Amino acid sequence: MAAGRFVVIVRFLVCLLLACRCCYGLQVCIVGSGMGGASAAFFLRNYSTAPLDIDIFEQNDKVGGRMAVVELAGDTFEAGASILHPKNLHAVNFVNLLGLKPRSDPDDEGFGIWNGSKFVFKTANAGDSFISKITTQILNTLAVMWRYGTSLWSMQNYVSDLLEKFLLLYQEGRPGFETVEELLKSVDLYESTQYPVQELLVKYGLSNLIIDELVTFIMRINYGQNVSISGMAGGVSLCGSGGDLWAVEGGNWQIPEGLIRYTNASLHLKSRVVSVTLEDSGYIVELESGGTKACDTVILATSLDESKIEINPKVKLPQRSMQHTYTTFIRGLLNAEYFGMSSDTIPDLIGTVEDPAIPFSSINVLKEYSVSDKAYKAFSRAPLSDELLDKFFSTRSSTIRIDWAAYPHYTPPEKFAPYILDGHHLYYVNAFENAASSIETSAVSAQNVVRILLSRLLHGNLEQPKLSSVAGLIKDGTVEDL
Ligand SMILES: Cc1cc2nc3c(=O)[nH]c(=O)nc-3n(C[C@H](O)[C@H](O)[C@H](O)COP(=O)(O)OP(=O)(O)OC[C@H]3O[C@@H](n4cnc5c(N)ncnc54)[C@H](O)[C@@H]3O)c2cc1C
Repeated sequence: MAAGRFVVIVRFLVCLLLACRCCYGLQVCIVGSGMGGASAAFFLRNYSTAPLDIDIFEQNDKVGGRMAVVELAGDTFEAGASILHPKNLHAVNFVNLLGLKPRSDPDDEGFGIWNGSKFVFKTANAGDSFISKITTQILNTLAVMWRYGTSLWSMQNYVSDLLEKFLLLYQEGRPGFETVEELLKSVDLYESTQYPVQELLVKYGLSNLIIDELVTFIMRINYGQNVSISGMAGGVSLCGSGGDLWAVEGGNWQIPEGLIRYTNASLHLKSRVVSVTLEDSGYIVELESGGTKACDTVILATSLDESKIEINPKVKLPQRSMQHTYTTFIRGLLNAEYFGMSSDTIPDLIGTVEDPAIPFSSINVLKEYSVSDKAYKAFSRAPLSDELLDKFFSTRSSTIRIDWAAYPHYTPPEKFAPYILDGHHLYYVNAFENAASSIETSAVSAQNVVRILLSRLLHGNLEQPKLSSVAGLIKDGTVEDL
């Protein structure tokens, strides 16, 4: 009995000494249930030696944020982030861990680059048979090589160099970096955020022709912007145009959904955070509903540019605006005549050169039900009115429009908000988005935030990850297949 009382007293004293951090769970509040918030929860559980209570607040009635699906006339399609690169190692690791099924993105669709009055370059759509697919792919590759020549290799070199540096971010045992600048400098990627991709590609030996056509076409599809975006964002965008791209069968949103379930975090849907206030003992997170939550630390995993969360005391962030991408889903048939073609020769993917007079960035076929009935996705910088759509489409049975605050409007040299917003324990995952915005970079940034948070709050008390890390996916310098 006396020994028991002694143990209680000793535990009480130790608690006092360590500010109770080891005796009760540190209360971590995460705002946002997209890839950033969900991966932060995962890395917290994976790295922390101490018990943690994790609460995730999400304003929507479902998780995933910009990873979402849309239902168009009975079929489900990716509405936001749709493709992953084979070297997106966190995503690969999460998909394996959660038992999700990857599916490959077809890379045999024909594409055309539209300048507003004609296709300046176009490849052919493959037929259904294996022979037709192979022959078309060979002929298309030859056509692309004929037009752009050695610039294609220079473009590939640019992407490979960037990827090689990016892969260094996956090394285990890296410290947490308190600024995005330091994180990027640690792998020699910072410079690429300071110059337009166009300038860097010219240095790599790319011709003006490929930059004005193929590279611009890719930038407009992936970031809704042009070759004035930074070298890093441009490189990430080029990665999203190569072969072997993949997605999760049934929807990419299942990655954050699975991670949140896996970490056993308390998820609060339809809970919009209106303010985060620093108090003597931590933070008070206030919800639109009037409820509040006391937290030891808060991780903001949403871009603050449009989410209007009041932070007290105020913090000053570098100015940033989000690029809105209007995503329009159409079931019907494209008006081939508008593009001066017949319906069997019009490319499955139509991209565009940079010309403000062209009202869309891209239109692509998502699914073919019959020769006269297809599902399409169009990206544009402004809403596509019915009147405009009726010019491009000869028939249209369903139309769905989504306005995304999609990614930052990139204006190199990029300036970054700090990871620690207030010098205390308010962290900002989306500070990284000025470098690039993607599923994978959200996870990379969340991992860094967790490293800083745990080393600052638990005094360097970071454990070896409990689960096998992505480093295990790299064997002999190359990345294992999915
Ligand atoms: C059309 C489009 C296409 C894209 N294509 C790709 C692609 O193919 N591949 C790729 O890798 N990336 C792509 N991206 C980028 C990618 O989607 C994002 O970079 C990534 O999903 C961002 O994740 P996040 O968690 O940082 O932010 P988000 O996904 O935006 O998550 C933030 C979450 O916070 C919630 N939230 C915001 N404010 C509050 C508040 N006050 N209270 C509570 N909750 C709040 C939001 O509802 C949201 O769920 C695309 C994006 C768009 C829009």
